[in-house]
Amino acid sequence: MTETIFSKIIRKEIPADIVYEDDLVLAFRDVNPQAPVHILIIPKRPIVSIAEVTPADTELLGYLLLTVARVAAQEGLEEGYRIVINTGKDGGQTVFHLHLHLLGQRMMTWPPG
Ligand code: C5P
Repeated sequence: MTETIFSKIIRKEIPADIVYEDDLVLAFRDVNPQAPVHILIIPKRPIVSIAEVTPADTELLGYLLLTVARVAAQEGLEEGYRIVINTGKDGGQTVFHLHLHLLGQRMMTWPPG
């Protein structure tokens, strides 16, 4: 897959407000927040999108969701939150390195835009 801005964030070549990191995943605050808490959770291994995953990614995908829950607890989102995975052009994906949006500390609406 081609290099994205998230590869540079993983390598610490550009700054990001990192809230959680381990060998497999990185979580950092979105630069253009859509809620009082807006954090992106990404795998360090570059995967383009959910549309590109394979059975070999099963464990990593589960771990990404566990990380969302961990970060949400760390951020004090006891009242709830929303997880968004924009996928492909029609899904509104703009950065083609898989990422989970964690949005919280405001009431969400449905349907999403
Ligand atoms: O799901 P989508 O691909 O549209 O989301 C990409 C997100 O990455 C945007 O919310 C954008 O604000 C964020 N971003 C960021 N830091 C960058 C570049 C993009 O937080 N350096």
